[in-house]
Amino acid sequence: PPPPTWTDCAGGYVALTYDDGVSAGTTALVNKLKESNVKATFFDVGQNVVANPSLAALQATQGSVQNHSYTHSSMSGESTGTSPLTQAQITQELTQTQTAIFNATGTTPTQFRSPYGDDSPTLTTVEQSLGLLEVLWSVDTNDWQGLTAAQIAATALTAQPGGIVLMHDNKPATVAAIPLIVQGLQAKHQ
Ligand code: ZN
Repeated sequence: PPPPTWTDCAGGYVALTYDDGVSAGTTALVNKLKESNVKATFFDVGQNVVANPSLAALQATQGSVQNHSYTHSSMSGESTGTSPLTQAQITQELTQTQTAIFNATGTTPTQFRSPYGDDSPTLTTVEQSLGLLEVLWSVDTNDWQGLTAAQIAATALTAQPGGIVLMHDNKPATVAAIPLIVQGLQAKHQ
């Protein structure tokens, strides 16, 4: 059968995003997205991509692979109580990840999600110099806190049209939530 066209509705799309990959859970995640016939955005950590480039290539078959820094350090230090990275350090975090993802997937990222959502004017300067759009989220599922698939899906389904749902790459309950999220979004469309 042809793929469902319900995402074409005037009400708009909801973006499913998965952070901190690639990981031992990436293959299961991508397979479940494929089964459910939905695309996602993967915000990967550069050093993980270098360790397992074929997993980033797998992600790219089911959506887009974007930049989530090289070492998952807080750029401003705000959430981790660490020193802010210098402009040179931030530039290195972002450019090394651009290279890692390009080498793995053949595509250069256009989006950056800062670890912990920590922002700073220096980060903005670097993003602009690299042509990266900063993308955060509108709904945080807190899926890393040991929630059930039903709990994760219920939070994800609070997303409004155009919403961006934050989840993570390495959580079995997050993978199990995918069919529930898709069914819930389809039900809202009817
Ligand atoms: Zn993260």
